[in-house]
Amino acid sequence: MFNNTEDSKTKLSEFGEFGLIDHLTKHFVIQHNSTLKSIGDDAAVLEHKNPIVVTTDLLVEGIHFDLSYMPLKHLGYKAVMVNLSDVYAMNAEATQITVSISCSNRFTVEALEELYAGIQLAAQNYKVDVIGGDTTSAVKGISISITAIGTAPKEKITYRSGAKPNDLVLVSGDLGSAFMGLKVLEREKEVFKVNPNNQPDLEKYTYLVERQLKPEARKDIPELLEQLEVLPTAMIDISDGLSSELIHICKNSSVGANLFEDKLPIDPALISVCEEFELDSTTVVLNGGEDYELLFTINQNDYDKIKGNPNLSVIGHITEASEGIHLVTRANTKLPIQAMGWNSMDKEK
Ligand code: ADP
Ligand code: MG
Repeated sequence: MFNNTEDSKTKLSEFGEFGLIDHLTKHFVIQHNSTLKSIGDDAAVLEHKNPIVVTTDLLVEGIHFDLSYMPLKHLGYKAVMVNLSDVYAMNAEATQITVSISCSNRFTVEALEELYAGIQLAAQNYKVDVIGGDTTSAVKGISISITAIGTAPKEKITYRSGAKPNDLVLVSGDLGSAFMGLKVLEREKEVFKVNPNNQPDLEKYTYLVERQLKPEARKDIPELLEQLEVLPTAMIDISDGLSSELIHICKNSSVGANLFEDKLPIDPALISVCEEFELDSTTVVLNGGEDYELLFTINQNDYDKIKGNPNLSVIGHITEASEGIHLVTRANTKLPIQAMGWNSMDKEK
């Protein structure tokens, strides 16, 4: 797809830097009044009346993604999601992004068009303005760095440090599916290497593969919490896995926590695929990464406001720091929760 040995594809050098940036970004539409100046000057100019939150993430080929199963359009979309997720985890609204790309001459103009189609779709769906970036060549591979900017009233911004004993621990959506989607894709890649004519049948894995290739950041959760008049006491997004994110909240807030195994939100598709891979679904839910769900704590007095909401699960509560961080299993035993991180689940990496 992006191989420039095909004659019909356009080499990056045929465009020149300015022509290329213009070509890739000309369809972007500005949606926010706070964007005073976007692409085209030495710097963008923004005007926000409330505090600004800023976050950045760098994705490197071979480290964070594998183009043999990650289409470039999906990569563009996901790179935006990863950043917006961090803005939403501050209980803020995302408003602008910058996009920086480095790539080798193995990539064609058509390949970058695909990448930008994903970025544009994400920007449209999530209502953020693409206000600038940088473009440079690389000796090898492709890297994409996105910076996201957001805003929220000062009193609404939620840090990792505000959880208090007796607060409830909540999570949005379901967990573990993106990790098992990756497992399925990695397995198909190995099968393909042995037998390139084999057509993979991914139908029964659609949900899991989508969670890996096309994650959606939870823009709706800060909006929902505002509607319900619930101010979370602490919040974080789940990029590295539930265990390690919970440990971040506990360390930053100087508290402990108990999670309950039977409360963890699991999609039915995950259970059958875990059996197929001979993996324990609770381990996957605790340590699988890239779900981009939000983990947060609320005061017990707010329980009635969130009770029964299909987007949210109460999975545990906060304790004194001295009690440690534990999972209460279905058999009612207490296991210490450790930060495994999802990379360490994968011995080959
Ligand atoms: P400078 O030399 O001042 O850094 P550039 O030529 O790198 O300027 O960029 C020109 C304009 O295009 C700037 O507004 C910059 O933010 C924008 N831009 C550059 N690369 C990208 C990109 N990959 N995506 C979006 N905007 C970009
Ligand atoms: Mg530049």
